[in-house]
Amino acid sequence: MAKIAFLGLGAMGSRMARSLLAAGHELTVWNRDPQKAEALRDAGADVALTPRDAVADRDFVFCMLRDDIASRQVWLDAEDGALGGLPEGTVAVECSTLSVDWVEELAELCRRRNTIFLDAPVVGSRPQAEARQLIFLAGGAVEAVSRAEAVLLHMGASVHHAGPNGAVAAAKLAVNTLFGIQVAVLAELIEAVRYRGFDPAHLVELISATPVCSPAAKAAAGAMLLDAFPPLFPIQIVEKDLGYALSIAGLGESTPLASAARNVFARAVNEGHGTDNITGIVQLYRQPGF
Ligand code: NAP
Repeated sequence: MAKIAFLGLGAMGSRMARSLLAAGHELTVWNRDPQKAEALRDAGADVALTPRDAVADRDFVFCMLRDDIASRQVWLDAEDGALGGLPEGTVAVECSTLSVDWVEELAELCRRRNTIFLDAPVVGSRPQAEARQLIFLAGGAVEAVSRAEAVLLHMGASVHHAGPNGAVAAAKLAVNTLFGIQVAVLAELIEAVRYRGFDPAHLVELISATPVCSPAAKAAAGAMLLDAFPPLFPIQIVEKDLGYALSIAGLGESTPLASAARNVFARAVNEGHGTDNITGIVQLYRQPGF
């Protein structure tokens, strides 16, 4: 078993860290809000006061943080940042969903200090994290992926070596963009047919029976019919990811559908739905009386 540091104990990170503990690893955790580390302390993890303290003497360091700002802070802070304290030979693994630019910058900083670095964003949400069914898209050198694979498989069902750092971040953002666009358009269609007097459940049943509907879109459509928005993949995180996806193309006019979807999710955040699940987007289209 390995000595592991886990930095970032939000909805996803806390579940992933718990899986590592359950697998028997020696775990040190850190979170900006220390209260969120208490349950893991009770379960047997050590709790560090700073990211730098957490990574001392570790074989692997995993991060699961909200965004570029959080990741930059946790890795690079001049006093407490993890990167400055990494022992030689430690494998650094960034699992957060981040912009391609920042992942490439972090990979370059790691290369300069001979740190083995992987970006390993995940496909799957809270239930998959809980059930160790996450899919990891791993970016970096083949040897680095091989070294981390056994530990990643204690948190997930599969690891796909998907190319160099950055390309993998782009692939992860592409997956989320496709899903975000599908959910946004389903929300429009469900409420459009409801307005016209047709049964939206029937529409969803029909679409779901065709090959054009993905399993994830089918599940999202079902949740929209039930008005079910418990925060699995919150709208504010979707909006963040779509923003990063647009930046791949330099925020130009070459991504009109992704731009439109991002605007829709941004509007949902502005209207107070940011902490609802992605399916809560349907509330934008509900017309009074329907
Ligand atoms: P979350 O519950 O909001 O957790 C965010 C984590 O980031 C918390 O530990 C938070 O610390 C930390 N954080 C935020 N800003 C920070 C800062 N400036 N400095 C240090 N730490 C900071 O989000 P989540 O759902 O776990 O998502 C985490 C990552 O996984 C995101 O990149 C997300 O895109 C990705 N992801 C999410 C899902 C999903 O379905 N939710 C699925 C796949 C991937 P505090 O507790 O102190 O606020």
